[in-house]
Amino acid sequence: MLRIALVAVSLGLMAVPGCALAGAAVSSAGGAVAVDGARIAHADRHPGDWLTYGRTYSEQRFSPLAQINDRDVGRLGLAWHYDIGGDRRVQESTPLVVGGVMYLTTAWSRVVALNAATGKRLWAFDPHVPRAADAHGCCDVANRGVAIWRGRVYLGTYDGRLIALSATTGKPLWSVRTADYAQGYTITGAPIVVKGRVIIGNGGGEFGTRGYVTAYDARTGREDWRFYTVPGKPGVPDRAASDAVLNRIARPTWHGHYWRFGGGGNVWDSMAYDAKLDLLYIGTGNGAPWNGTVRSPGANLFITSIIALRPENGEYVWHFQEVPGDVWDYDADQQMILADLRLHGRVRRVLLQAPKDGIFYVLDRATGRFLSGAPYTPINWARGLTARGEPIEVHKAFYDRTGKPALAMPGAAGGHNWQPMSYDPQTGLVYLPVSAMAFTYSGARRVALRRLGWNTGDNFIALPQNPRVVAQIRKALSGYLLAWNPVTQRPAWRVALGTPWNGGVLATAGGLVFQGDAMGRFVAYRAADGKRLWSVQTHTGIVAPPITYQVAGQQYVAVQIGWGGAFGLAAGQLALDSQVNEGNVPRMLVFRLGGTEAMPSPPPGTHPRLNPPPSTASAATIALGESRYQSYCSVCHGDSAVSGGVLPDLRYAPALADPALWQRIVQGGLLAPGGMVSFAGQLSRRQIEAVRAYVIARAHQTEGERAARPY
Ligand code: CA
Repeated sequence: MLRIALVAVSLGLMAVPGCALAGAAVSSAGGAVAVDGARIAHADRHPGDWLTYGRTYSEQRFSPLAQINDRDVGRLGLAWHYDIGGDRRVQESTPLVVGGVMYLTTAWSRVVALNAATGKRLWAFDPHVPRAADAHGCCDVANRGVAIWRGRVYLGTYDGRLIALSATTGKPLWSVRTADYAQGYTITGAPIVVKGRVIIGNGGGEFGTRGYVTAYDARTGREDWRFYTVPGKPGVPDRAASDAVLNRIARPTWHGHYWRFGGGGNVWDSMAYDAKLDLLYIGTGNGAPWNGTVRSPGANLFITSIIALRPENGEYVWHFQEVPGDVWDYDADQQMILADLRLHGRVRRVLLQAPKDGIFYVLDRATGRFLSGAPYTPINWARGLTARGEPIEVHKAFYDRTGKPALAMPGAAGGHNWQPMSYDPQTGLVYLPVSAMAFTYSGARRVALRRLGWNTGDNFIALPQNPRVVAQIRKALSGYLLAWNPVTQRPAWRVALGTPWNGGVLATAGGLVFQGDAMGRFVAYRAADGKRLWSVQTHTGIVAPPITYQVAGQQYVAVQIGWGGAFGLAAGQLALDSQVNEGNVPRMLVFRLGGTEAMPSPPPGTHPRLNPPPSTASAATIALGESRYQSYCSVCHGDSAVSGGVLPDLRYAPALADPALWQRIVQGGLLAPGGMVSFAGQLSRRQIEAVRAYVIARAHQTEGERAARPY
């Protein structure tokens, strides 16, 4: 593969020059330099560190630290906080902590190194992701974390670069373009380093892309191998590690001109590695487009699958497909936990996953064989699973085949999304952040590949048109922390959180489970029974997973706050109702026993007033505007022109009163420097004016229905 593009990195990339002197105090170089495969494989010998995304290669997110435990957790207090600043966008990072230094990522793929005991900043790195990249991703400008290997920090950026930084100074050492945002690819996930190779995937399954993972030499950035998860155009070899297996197994499951829309199968979140079996596990996303009739009949391998590869060369070993021919965006990218479980009297090496489709899977991780599966949340798209783990289909859920909208559970946000779960080997339970959400899918009749906007083959229009369906969706909306027994495939306990889209989970040897939630609470539960032992209000919604670490004999628990993501952007009024709504200030919060720092207060509230011009457009124009708005604008500015609180709510936009200004923004790209790119190639002037008419009508509806809580 000669795709590699080694980019000369100039110092101009750096926002803040490295500050080596400050770092010396906590021996940052010494800590990070020692991180290699042996150190990560034996992470429990250094329980004070958090070395890789899931703490260990097994991704259990269980810490052996027990200074903070179920008897003393009531004395937990804030030790320090760090104001992240910048946009109030989603914060999804799992910070790594090595040798007393915390490596934290933030929205827009920035990295900051902090003294983990004091919060003092050691260095910061800003890759200056072009704002235009925002419009080429589905789910907010998130970043979930870095990888560390032999003194270097590896970062995937939203616009598709993989960058190596010095762990001591934050200076870039090399940078490669591994994916192109202009083609619909984005990176939000953390890389993993295995045997000296940095492995990184990408997202874009909603934008007509073709998924792949690539391995780079950690030292030089040279491309080592690439594995495509779905076949490309017949007769055009990729010369990649996946060529043989795609031709042999995957291509026969695709039909028609499937390559036109990319096919999907994107590897956008966590990976796991078993050093004994020497297997790298990757999870793949939905088919592109969602609409299977447009995409291709058949199972469409390897979409919504778990694949085991050899880390040296990307050689295929096994796969397990969860949702053959998926049409509901049921990604299988969610975290995979490697554990040893006693099943039927025998210890099995298993892989656990609770993906978006609502089913908890237990697989034999040596062979990929299905061992068991059960719904962890209500599902209606399948009647159950066969003995081989294949779903028993419910015909009417296939909106694309029936031509009728279908209300499916879970919805497109998933019963469980990227928010990590944890596994406690002491209790034998998996702690899982569950969102109960339905979604109405409706297939578009005609689908053409767009340069901008989502390419799902779903017109996103059924929801606002049918109040009965909206009521059903509202009724089903909830979230809970679920303790799940993976052996019996039954719940042990659950805590209702009231709202969906809550934080990832940490379990510790102190008998504790930590989780933040969308209502801004950060809570410690007793691992055995879910009793709430300690809680603090942070005034900002939390989706990121907590971690714990130890410096100089003191245990800390850390969580990043800042709400948003796919649900926050797209779910409109549902999103607005499902979060604390006190300003969404991005911060890192770090707690310890006896911590005395005061929790920062929320910023003063603002009360914008609706001031729409008169609604004079015809019903036909407003209907056209609604269809264009839902199709192009709703995924960022919110369903039915109600912002979930992350990006501007257009009902309040001053430009509503100025049709010329509205055109200069939407067609002319006036606000492109801020990320609102021009839609000139996608929407005509007439359609753009119709969108304005629709938003004006929605603003008037809002005024009229305020008391009745419209939707
Ligand atoms: Ca997806």
